[in-house]
Amino acid sequence: MGIERSNPVGGPGASSGTDLSGGRRQHTGGGAAVAGAAGDTIGLKERLRAWAHECGFSQIGIAGIDLASAEPGLAAWLQAGFHGEMGYMARHGLKRARPAGLVPGTVSVISARMDYLPRAPAAQAAGDVETGDAAAQPPRWARHELARLARPGEAVVSLYARGRDYHKVLRQRLQQLADRLAAEVGPFGHRVFTDSAPVLEVELAVRAGLGWRGKHTLALSRDAGSLFFLGEIFVDLALPPDRPEEARPPPAAGRLPEPQSDSPNERVPPLSAGPTTGHCGTCSACLAACPTGAIVAPYRLDARRCISYLTIELHGPIPPALRPAIGNRIFGCDDCQLVCPWNKYARRSTLPDFDGRAGLGDGTTLLPLWAWDEREFLRRTEGSAIRRIGHARWRRNLAVALGNAVRASPAGAERAALTAALAAARTAADDLVREHIDWALAQADAGR
Ligand code: SF4
Ligand code: SF4
Repeated sequence: MGIERSNPVGGPGASSGTDLSGGRRQHTGGGAAVAGAAGDTIGLKERLRAWAHECGFSQIGIAGIDLASAEPGLAAWLQAGFHGEMGYMARHGLKRARPAGLVPGTVSVISARMDYLPRAPAAQAAGDVETGDAAAQPPRWARHELARLARPGEAVVSLYARGRDYHKVLRQRLQQLADRLAAEVGPFGHRVFTDSAPVLEVELAVRAGLGWRGKHTLALSRDAGSLFFLGEIFVDLALPPDRPEEARPPPAAGRLPEPQSDSPNERVPPLSAGPTTGHCGTCSACLAACPTGAIVAPYRLDARRCISYLTIELHGPIPPALRPAIGNRIFGCDDCQLVCPWNKYARRSTLPDFDGRAGLGDGTTLLPLWAWDEREFLRRTEGSAIRRIGHARWRRNLAVALGNAVRASPAGAERAALTAALAAARTAADDLVREHIDWALAQADAGR
């Protein structure tokens, strides 16, 4: 997932986001009238929501384009160098906070949410809702993921990346939604974005009423946690904006109380010092759980330390000091989302696209993946977001995880198998991978 993370600003006369799989919420309008559709902006928004649902989105909202309050935070984050090697972020600079600068003529942004927690067999999905003492723990699926992280020989791919490349899925469906809108109002100027570097997607989602920015810097929804993708359609239609999450009514009786624990999910930081309280309360679970200390303060992410950045965005060597903390995470990281109490409400995808592929999901271990040559890698990852990092970085990541497994295994047959596989690949490896293999082999003696 990209490294964009941001923060809400309300707007008078706005309306609330509508959760398409829940009940419809109040909207009062207040924006300028859209062209076409006989000026019936409210009715048009309702139809837009219905079309979005048909396109596979769980929720949409409308945001205006004034992100000025986000600019100081964005500038400070870039100034601190927290974007690391993601030079495209710096290149776009403050343009990212100016939708009309990015796509001239834009006056509204449609922000859309698509849930990605992979589908599960009915019996397993039924177990998502727990009661009693179990309800106080992370949900069953999250406990399952946490248990996998504790088994060094397993290979853990971030939940969002186990199926089809979400860029393709969202882009296609956002365009379908835009085409449906054009069929109603006539041709209009627009551009779709999916986890695109120039777009402050969390900032826009918050303004569109889809949620708030959590302390881990991802967007959070009271109804869906944080396991969702965001996509945007920049439009030259003046649609009435929605109301930010914070202006919505409190949770219904019987739901979880707001998190109060002081102990213990391409992302970017809280971009402004504005009103960003959201519903994290005094919880700091994500900060405590982050293996590399990448969440340097609430709402502040140093991407250079984030495992998602290190295993996906970074092209060169992974800093040795951070390698042990990566554990068996070979593509991305979900830890800050696994411990988030709001992910009790995470929703499983309604689409088969995000189901885990054979070899990338449950039960996958490191050595079979290490055995993939480039041809096999390309075959297995066709249509997957993993393919974007290429075979060399894939093996770099695997070498780190294998080294961590070597360190964690007692001397014996298991460790011998790991070191033999690493050593056998050393001669044919390129410089990047060879250096990581050498590090991994050295883990046999590390800390002993
Ligand atoms: S827990 Fe993982 S994904 Fe979250 S900030 Fe830390 S390293 Fe990044
Ligand atoms: S873990 Fe706690 S602090 Fe972090 S995003 Fe979730 S509710 Fe907020």
